[in-house]
Amino acid sequence: MAYRITLIPGDGTGPELAEVTAKVVEATGVKIDWEIAQSGVDIMEKEGTPLPQSTLDSIKKNKIALKGPITTPIGSGFRSVNVAIRKELDLFSCVRPCKTYIGVKSKYENIDLAIVRENTEDLYAGVEYVQNSPEALEIIKLSQNKIRENSAISIKPISAFGSERIVRYAFEYALRCGRRKVTAVSKANIMKYTDGLFYKTAREVAKDYEGKIEYEERLIDNMCMQLVQKPHFYDVIVLPNLYGDILSDLCAGLVGGLGVAPGANMGKDIAVFEAVHGSAPKYKGLNKVNPTALILSAKLMLEHIGETSAAFRLEKAVADVIAEKKRTTYDLGGVAGTKEMAQAIIDKLK
Ligand code: NAD
Repeated sequence: MAYRITLIPGDGTGPELAEVTAKVVEATGVKIDWEIAQSGVDIMEKEGTPLPQSTLDSIKKNKIALKGPITTPIGSGFRSVNVAIRKELDLFSCVRPCKTYIGVKSKYENIDLAIVRENTEDLYAGVEYVQNSPEALEIIKLSQNKIRENSAISIKPISAFGSERIVRYAFEYALRCGRRKVTAVSKANIMKYTDGLFYKTAREVAKDYEGKIEYEERLIDNMCMQLVQKPHFYDVIVLPNLYGDILSDLCAGLVGGLGVAPGANMGKDIAVFEAVHGSAPKYKGLNKVNPTALILSAKLMLEHIGETSAAFRLEKAVADVIAEKKRTTYDLGGVAGTKEMAQAIIDKLK
């Protein structure tokens, strides 16, 4: 029987990436009945919303989605659809494995670590007040003038509940994937209440895994330097939302760039798989960008549904194509387009 899975092509380069990824997944032999659901700037023009209810309903019904990237206008326009999907479906954990593949140009070799980012709280909670709004003025008053007049304000909520479930997720992920260590990252020396709560909760959770998984803490600024200097020291890294977002791109850089960095947004019973990269709109329709990140996200999806053998073969096919360097995209030093690289992966799977 075929799996019914929601496919969100997204916008920018998303639709061309989603199209080839679906074909690659098909080539593994796993039968998938894709339910196409729209989201992003193109559907916004037609339906007046970048995230139609029908798209959310489709994900809720099927419980699994593969999603292309979606553009977020900066400073104005609609709020991030990506953030809205994660919040709406309570996809509290964003898992981003970072692994070096032979053939990808990178300053480092043999990196294999995973970022586990909290997805629903922190400065991404969407609690923001416009400059001079009554709420902003009230908060300025409450702050006893620690905040300057005319400030716009974003609130950073970190809860014990949210911290507990993301840190526990990170430890369970570490156990499941045969990993040895979890590093909790924050800036608790400065944000004593919010990040302090994250650490306090993490230490409590870590006690349940004593003797099985090692636990340690790093401050975010130090962690950035450590990752650049000695990334091999790290294994599973768990962070609140904003630090997790930033460190995900840093780690993508360690393993050769956004073109090869996959991701998964996991909730209690819903999972949405997507690349770390965005919609790269300047390359839209040019058949240029690397499909690897979305294809490796589909590999995580296959693992999630229990198709581990297909997932293994898919990753091997991707690794072989990258290592051969004959049919890869520009970012990997090749001249192949999106479709040609995807076809090379399909040829390996035959
Ligand atoms: P981006 O990731 O789209 O692109 C930055 C640069 O990285 C590109 O110009 C390109 O040089 C390179 N790149 C990205 N993907 C690549 C690929 N598959 N192959 C080869 N090179 C690739 O980041 P951006 O330009 O900051 O963001 C564009 C839009 O995407 C923004 O609106 C942003 O909000 C949105 N975004 C969406 C998601 C998501 O859908 N989950 C994630 C990040 C950004």
